[in-house]
Amino acid sequence: MQEKLDDLKKRLAEISDINNAAAVLGWDQQTYMPPGGAAARAQQLATLSHLAHEKFTDDTIGCLLDELHAYARSLPYDSDDASLIRVTKRDYDKASKVPPSLVSEIAHATARAFEAWRKAKAESRFSDFAPYLQRNLDLKRRYAECLGYTDRIYDPLLDDYEPGMKTTQIEAIFTNVKQEIVPLVHAISSRLNVVDNGFLYQTFDEQIQWDLGMDVARLIGYDFERGRQDRSPHPFTTSFSIHDVRITTRFMNNYFPAGFFATIHETGHAVYNQGLRYELERTPLADGASLGAHESQSRMWENLVGRSRPFWKFFMPRMKAVFPEQFKNADAEKMYRAVNRVKPSLIRVEADEVTYNLHIMLRFELENALLEGRITVDDLPEIWNCKMQEYLGITPPDDAHGVLQDVHWSHGSFGYFPTYSLGNFFAAQLFDQIRKDIFGLDRHFEKGEFHILLDWLRAHLHTHGRKFTLDELAKKITGESLQTRSFVAYLKNKYGEMYSL
Ligand code: ZN
Repeated sequence: MQEKLDDLKKRLAEISDINNAAAVLGWDQQTYMPPGGAAARAQQLATLSHLAHEKFTDDTIGCLLDELHAYARSLPYDSDDASLIRVTKRDYDKASKVPPSLVSEIAHATARAFEAWRKAKAESRFSDFAPYLQRNLDLKRRYAECLGYTDRIYDPLLDDYEPGMKTTQIEAIFTNVKQEIVPLVHAISSRLNVVDNGFLYQTFDEQIQWDLGMDVARLIGYDFERGRQDRSPHPFTTSFSIHDVRITTRFMNNYFPAGFFATIHETGHAVYNQGLRYELERTPLADGASLGAHESQSRMWENLVGRSRPFWKFFMPRMKAVFPEQFKNADAEKMYRAVNRVKPSLIRVEADEVTYNLHIMLRFELENALLEGRITVDDLPEIWNCKMQEYLGITPPDDAHGVLQDVHWSHGSFGYFPTYSLGNFFAAQLFDQIRKDIFGLDRHFEKGEFHILLDWLRAHLHTHGRKFTLDELAKKITGESLQTRSFVAYLKNKYGEMYSL
């Protein structure tokens, strides 16, 4: 049996090398590659992805997994070997159900759709993008049919990003949270002026912003011996190894929170990957458990830590030291309130903590309605605007600020959006547990001792890699399934106090 397991591991290690090499090319594409390199890079990436797919769906891997099935069952569920075999089997079953011709059709269609989306967004004309979106939808329906489902067509798509999660579970969670958040948004909307953030809009030197970002990333515990930061138009985190996890950021020179919180967010993703156990390297287990689990880490550092009062008690003197003019009249309390200001807005990526999930719910509802044929692509702009009015009380002035704002549908990434909200909910659930486990957490933060949180996350979450699903992790770490009670209570406490509700 050991021989078979070794054979499997050797093959998976090679596939992991190919995928990680492709990730290096992808990182370069978004950071340093000159525009002229685009066509060649697309070919190189397509070749590597084809190679990795071919190697992974090879019958030999299927046979090895079948032969190792009984052995895996004989081991503890959470052991490295049992988890490797279980998770690889899950990936293999999905990958081998989709014909390579469909995979490449989707790759080509989404590449064209992305270009069409960019132009349509620049000109704010949804009708130019509609045929490409229709094509992506048709292909994703076929993809979902290949994978199969018993209940909802959305299930297999969601499963790509959040293994094991079902559409009806998300519907139940969202309905529940929406009932709590919509009234909160309306209550705050009548008191928007209670919080002032005007002083965040000033001129901030970019090099100083960069240094500040590096400072905060180090404080969180990002290891620059095993990572680096660069610039890109859309910040992201990528990993080529547990020993090489990189982040990117961007800055606005008239609004410092954009770059500052982007850096904290990506650092949250990066320390997750840096915290994986070395034994998982070059296996399918060497990543975060799911997109929701990953987002729980980025959002925890960004919001539950970076937008907390104790954080600013510690960090404000540093801020005032580097931007003495800009913040001469501000203190930690003013900063805490300013960076948390709630304002229903059109753009998801700029949304505050209270309104953010409503943006996600809107997209989730539309994606399901589209896939199930309850609405058509042509209906989208109008329904989008109606829902924005219903949930957030605002109507987009044009398609660019409405239905065209996100890149995901051009990539054919249906099923992706809910993971953002799951990350927010899971972060709050974990944080309740962390407060039980670490005495005086706020006092540690006030002294700049953030390693205490990172150590906890490493021991309880990061170490497991992809061994468990989000729900399994929730049960293992907090003793109950994923819940939204913690998140709702967090919002009500924090914003109830801030807005004197
Ligand atoms: Zn993220």
